[in-house]
Amino acid sequence: APVSDGILLGGLDPDQRAAAELTEGPSLIIAGPGTGKTRTLTHKIAHLVTACGVPAERCLAITFTRRAAEEMAERLTALVPGHAPKLTIATFHSLGVRILREQHARVGLTSRFGIADEAAQLSVLTELLDDEGAAKRALSELPQDAALADRYTKALRAKDLVDFDDLITLPVRLLESEPEVAAHYRERFQWISVDEYQDVDETQYRLLRLLAPEDGNLTAIGDPDQAIYRFRGADVGFFLRFQQDYPGARTVQLTRNYRSGPHILAGAVRAITPTTLVPGRELTAAGHHPEPALIGLHHASDEHGEAAFVARTIDQLLGGSSFHSLDSGRVTGDGTEGLGFADFAVLYRTDAQAKAIMEALTRAGVPFQKRSHDRLADRPGVREIVRELHFEGTSGSVLERIHRAARAETHAAVDLLTPLARRCGDDLERFRTEIALGAEVDTWDPKADLVALLTLHAAKGLEFPVVFMVGCEDGLLPLRWPGADPDPEEENEERRLFFVGMTRAQRHLYLSHAAQRVRQGTSRPMPPSPFLADLGPEVVQRFGEANPPRRKATQLRLL
Ligand code: ATP
Ligand code: MG
Repeated sequence: APVSDGILLGGLDPDQRAAAELTEGPSLIIAGPGTGKTRTLTHKIAHLVTACGVPAERCLAITFTRRAAEEMAERLTALVPGHAPKLTIATFHSLGVRILREQHARVGLTSRFGIADEAAQLSVLTELLDDEGAAKRALSELPQDAALADRYTKALRAKDLVDFDDLITLPVRLLESEPEVAAHYRERFQWISVDEYQDVDETQYRLLRLLAPEDGNLTAIGDPDQAIYRFRGADVGFFLRFQQDYPGARTVQLTRNYRSGPHILAGAVRAITPTTLVPGRELTAAGHHPEPALIGLHHASDEHGEAAFVARTIDQLLGGSSFHSLDSGRVTGDGTEGLGFADFAVLYRTDAQAKAIMEALTRAGVPFQKRSHDRLADRPGVREIVRELHFEGTSGSVLERIHRAARAETHAAVDLLTPLARRCGDDLERFRTEIALGAEVDTWDPKADLVALLTLHAAKGLEFPVVFMVGCEDGLLPLRWPGADPDPEEENEERRLFFVGMTRAQRHLYLSHAAQRVRQGTSRPMPPSPFLADLGPEVVQRFGEANPPRRKATQLRLL
């Protein structure tokens, strides 16, 4: 049944609605975390295809992860069921795959070309150089050696392979050199929206410029203060110069945050203010928070004490214990009612930190799923499974075949790949593409009743009622190799990561830091993160091993 526009835009506040109604020409939506950017984008697309009569096949939505694309597709299926299957909802890389599959002959590939993972890239280079060590070094230095890069590309193509970078650079080159192909895609995708625009890189930007002319219907949504992928080549500069690139662009700011309690939000805003890229950054709490919690700041003796604190607190919040309320002298209405495992996330800067947390959660009987932002294809267990699948028969679903292919040492990878939810059914080709394009976090299952263990990068765009951000220490967040000097640009990016982490929390946010922890095999004293000092004392409540007054009461509750 057709959905009336009142229902589609009715779920938006007036500013969000104004943003969704900017349907012609370029527009820039600048908005902080939890202000409904992703929601506004989704409703805008629904509005376009219903109220504005835009054919769904003319719409392209670009998200940052495969998982975000899937979630947006699900939401649009619910909002505009008849139109949803005709929309293109993709990441830059999956859009690239689509263009290359359609235009394969023009770039010297078959329609069934493969996507080389790191192992395949290495084997191509090893064949060329006849030396595995040299191939490993060459892989990281390919851009500097034009002659080798050329031989490498030829060898890849001879095997009907592209690498991950090719997925965007090849379409860009194709559209640049063949104007009629570019015209075809401009005609096809006349309404383009890009979520998380602050993290586009130069090739992605060039692809967008080719697809969306200066007066095109391009909507860029994002938050420069959440730019966190510089290490992968992302450049927040593209967001900041959107007005120059698209001079006719209209701008909307969203400032009402529907996600986090007011103390969490106030702390987060104070944390980002010293280096904000958004002049006059404003964020007010608009959600319903009857008795908002302060930000818990826990000081542990070491990583094991920190992990035990996380496990204990999850247990207490789930048991309906009034742990947090006790700390703040209240016993009811603290927002812990009705929580399940899936409502908790533990966020950390480096994957290595997950080990102590996993041990403590396992001991406490708390089930979890751990995901990083690393590429799936580069995980050793995953690679083995993909290789084995090649030799498997064709009977059974992909899932059954994975289980047959798996060896004992790849069980962790099987757990990781199982959600890949199953989603692919019998379609092995799709499964391989998903692996080639996906990050670990894309297989995170929000519906499973498990605590989420995520790197801060992987937590981008997500939200949880209860968030623990562990390892808030100088050298870890901001991250710095022991002995290295601080780099101001990198420190700013680390501060943005801290901001992203804090703003994932809805009801409870716990920040923890340890007095010492093992890094690179050595136990080192860890000063607290300098970012903690900016939160403002009025929104923070300190407790922990190094600050014992409330500990007694906590232990009594546990007994
Ligand atoms: P991030 O920067 O972290 O990606 P975002 O700006 O994309 O955040 P969303 O994830 O779209 O924010 O929305 C945050 C939360 O607020 C979601 O739970 C969403 O459903 C809710 N929300 C957004 N707008 C409204 C609204 N107008 N009324 C009620 N809830 C809203
Ligand atoms: Mg979002």
